[in-house]
Amino acid sequence: MWKKISLIIFICIPTILLAQSFEIVQKPIIWNEDRERLSLEYLRDRHGMIQDRATIVPAMVVVHWTANNSVEKTFDLFNPVELPGRPELTKASKLNVSSQYVIDRDGTIYQFLADTTFARHTIGLNYCAIGIENIGSERNPLTKEQLIANEKLIRSLVKKYPIKYMLGHVEYYQLRETSVWKEADPNYITFKIDPGHVFMYKLRKRLKDLKLQEKLF
Ligand SMILES: [Zn+2]
Repeated sequence: MWKKISLIIFICIPTILLAQSFEIVQKPIIWNEDRERLSLEYLRDRHGMIQDRATIVPAMVVVHWTANNSVEKTFDLFNPVELPGRPELTKASKLNVSSQYVIDRDGTIYQFLADTTFARHTIGLNYCAIGIENIGSERNPLTKEQLIANEKLIRSLVKKYPIKYMLGHVEYYQLRETSVWKEADPNYITFKIDPGHVFMYKLRKRLKDLKLQEKLF
C-alpha cells in the first residue's frame, strides 16, 4: 500500500513541479459591469456573436509589443474601461484595448485578465484570441528573456485550451479571407508591425514541435 502511494507521489510531484515551473504575477485591470457590457456589445456588433458573458474559447495566441517601455505604463493604458481618444478605434467601439498577458523585458509574466476573459487587442480575432503584449518597440527590440517567457507561457496555454494558431499582430491580415476572421466592417483594419518578423521567426522556431499554424490556407 505505502509502496503504491510513494510511487504515485514519486511520479506526480515532478509533473506538478514541471507544470508550475514559472511564476505569473497577477496584476488585474478593472473588470466591472461596464467593461463586460462594452465587451458584450463588441462581441455582438463587431464579431456578430451574442453571448451572456464576455468570455472566449481560446483557439489562438496573438503576440504583440506595447510600443512603450514599462509594465506600469501599459497597466495605466489598459486599466480604464473606455478608450481615452484614438478616434480610429472609438468609432468601432468605446471599449478600451487590453490583453490577458504582458511580459516585461526581464521575462516576468504579468496577467491582466483571466485567460478566457474577452480582451480587445486584435481586430477580427478578439473573440478567440489570447493576447500577449511584450514591453518593447521597433527601437527597443524584444529580449531573449521575453522570447523564453513567451515560449513557456504559450506552451502552458496550449496544454489548457484548444489553441491551434499562433501569430504576431504584424501577421493578422493573413486571416482576413478565412472563416476565423469575424469583423462586421471589411474596411475596419489598422496597420501593425508588432512584435516584428524577427521575433516571430525565433518564437516559431522554438515552438516548432507544437505545430501551431499561423495561416489557415
Ligand atoms: Zn499589437
